[in-house]
Amino acid sequence: MGNLKHYINCIRNGEAFFDEQFKFSFILHEVGIIHLIFAIMFLIMGNKFLGIYNVVAFVMYLILDTFVKMKKFRTVLFIASFEVLAHGLITAFLIGLNTGFTLYYFSMIPWVFYMVLAWNAFEKKIRISLIYTGLYMICMLAAYISTFVIEPAMRPEKGWALAFTIVNVVISIVAMTEALILLDWDVMHKSEKMQNLNSELDEKANLDPLTKLYNRRFMNQKLEDLLVNLSKEGNIFGLIMGDIDNFKKVNDTYGHDFGDEVLKAVAAALKKSTRDDDVVCRWGGEEFLIAINGNRKITIDVAERMRIAVSEIRIPAGNDVISVTMTFGVTESIPGFNSDKLVAIADENLYKGKTSGKNKVVASPTFNLEVEDLIKP
Ligand code: GH3
Ligand code: MG
Ligand code: MG
Repeated sequence: MGNLKHYINCIRNGEAFFDEQFKFSFILHEVGIIHLIFAIMFLIMGNKFLGIYNVVAFVMYLILDTFVKMKKFRTVLFIASFEVLAHGLITAFLIGLNTGFTLYYFSMIPWVFYMVLAWNAFEKKIRISLIYTGLYMICMLAAYISTFVIEPAMRPEKGWALAFTIVNVVISIVAMTEALILLDWDVMHKSEKMQNLNSELDEKANLDPLTKLYNRRFMNQKLEDLLVNLSKEGNIFGLIMGDIDNFKKVNDTYGHDFGDEVLKAVAAALKKSTRDDDVVCRWGGEEFLIAINGNRKITIDVAERMRIAVSEIRIPAGNDVISVTMTFGVTESIPGFNSDKLVAIADENLYKGKTSGKNKVVASPTFNLEVEDLIKP
């Protein structure tokens, strides 16, 4: 009962097919119950030998469950496979082939591949799966060939042969399907997990850990994409380079940790001043580079909005309340200019702002002239 609850909970939270111990245990119980069904059928039919064999097999599978708890998966696979092989051979010798017991040789093949490939208990997985598959083939051949040589000693009546055939066809096909469904679920869940992990890693690789803005690496890639877009589709963009004014003094007066808090607050203000299709990045130290999806005028407007947003930040530091200002250099995208050149122009404008009083937005005069010059042959 506890097992069933655990099983349902596992399915609910999507872990049903990752708990190796549980899966092994579930399968063993299933095989045990199948042997119990055979035991009852054989005992009713009057075949004591096979009846007792199946009762013993049923008990063996319950005992094997304790091996699973000890995580002895290989031993369990070895004993269970041996039992399936033995059962197929013994039934072929004793009651012949028209009962369908050898069908389990086929349905065991996907199970062996599932157990060996999907679970982490085995090294040299493919080799082990192929060895087991070969063993099943040899035993199946032996079972078939034996019936040509020796007459089965306890052939069942037609009715019983039919009953066994129906039961065995149904169970063996269900068992095979079950193995393939489990394999499919495992692959599905594992690849889903991998995808999530990958996108988490991707995001981490692109983000600045302090401000959670995009980092320089991501921005460099983004600039290349924007330039391709500009040359192919004519989509213009703007660049803003911003630098906190007198930040060294903030650090020196209130400490580096406080400086970090200021950086975070500034980053949030910059992000808030942009739209989703703009890219805000921490270019380095207390410098930020922002790519704006828009023309020169829009870019200047955004930079001005950022300047005001930053100047409105208030951060308490002991008895003081600290505010900061920021200077911005702006450029628009210019066809034929690579990202280094554009960043250099934004930086130049930022420098002009710094040397002419700070806390301002400086943009290049419109580049139309230069663009026309560039386009001219
Ligand atoms: P200006 O107005 O000309 O930009 O002056 P400034 O003092 O801001 O410029 P400067 O480049 O001299 O100083 C930048 C300071 O930023 C120096 C450095 O200690 C600080 N800084 C850079 N990265 C970080 C960081 O991650 N955290 C903190 N707290 N400070 C940083
Ligand atoms: Mg500065
Ligand atoms: Mg600086």
